[in-house]
Amino acid sequence: MEIITEPSVLGERAREWMRAGRSVGFAPTMGSLHAGHASLMALARERTEVVVASVFVNPTQFGPGEDLDAYPRDLEHDVALAERVGVDVLFAPRPEAMYAPEAATWVEVPRLARHLCGASRPTHFRGVCTVVSKLFLLVRPTLAVFGQKDWQQLAIIRRMNADLGFGVEIVGAPIVREADGLALSSRNVRLTPAERTEAVGISRGLALAGELVQRGERDAECIVAEVRARYAADMPSGVVDYLECVDPATIEPVATIAGPVLFAAAVKFSAVRLIDNRYVDMPVASR
Ligand code: AMP
Repeated sequence: MEIITEPSVLGERAREWMRAGRSVGFAPTMGSLHAGHASLMALARERTEVVVASVFVNPTQFGPGEDLDAYPRDLEHDVALAERVGVDVLFAPRPEAMYAPEAATWVEVPRLARHLCGASRPTHFRGVCTVVSKLFLLVRPTLAVFGQKDWQQLAIIRRMNADLGFGVEIVGAPIVREADGLALSSRNVRLTPAERTEAVGISRGLALAGELVQRGERDAECIVAEVRARYAADMPSGVVDYLECVDPATIEPVATIAGPVLFAAAVKFSAVRLIDNRYVDMPVASR
């Protein structure tokens, strides 16, 4: 595996792959890699001849007072994991190599960023879109893999890719979870043991939302109220940032469930903010 830190070197490599007609798969990450990230790389490995992964804690997607400095970093571990999964090139640039001090361009998809994480982190997705655009222009991937754990991000990247004509095949990968259901996240290591025990409540509450839909409940507000009550009981030290039922494609709130919906939650334990979601479709008979 080759480790590249200079954008110009990655760009040169990508031009070589293009000239040779090789397909390129790409998995962008912020590092502190876990099995969720590995699943994205493995998916790319199955589908393309060259696999690129990036590890970059992108400063522009963190708002003031967020955890940019505290975000876990462990490049040595990341190199070993990426190598194990069969990544060909790991791109790990310094922030100064990605952003000139005078940089003044943003890529935004505001219509899909009105709710969920876009509402609580108003500048987050323009940071994501800008860095993913820059990475797409460097790597020129045939295919790029994003996790469904960040469902709203995936929807936004699909829109951006179509609108700007990047021509990348965007692949969504299922959420990888711990045995008890907690979605894997680089931030999980920052939970205290007591918080870790409570945090399983996030996915359990979302599973309850799914069960209520299966049992015939169609009023999203009722379901959200029931899950909130469960959250309060199961996660006394968790602060719910949001818990919403939205349309999986438009990320707009749904009041009456008449088709597939997404229940999405963000819960804070001290300074650690965790997100998770559950895609729920109705039994065909009840549509
Ligand atoms: P991050 O490093 O958290 O920015 O995530 C990089 C990519 O990995 C994003 O596409 C995430 O959606 C994806 N990802 C993170 N955690 C998981 C998980 N538990 N399962 C599947 N994909 C994940």
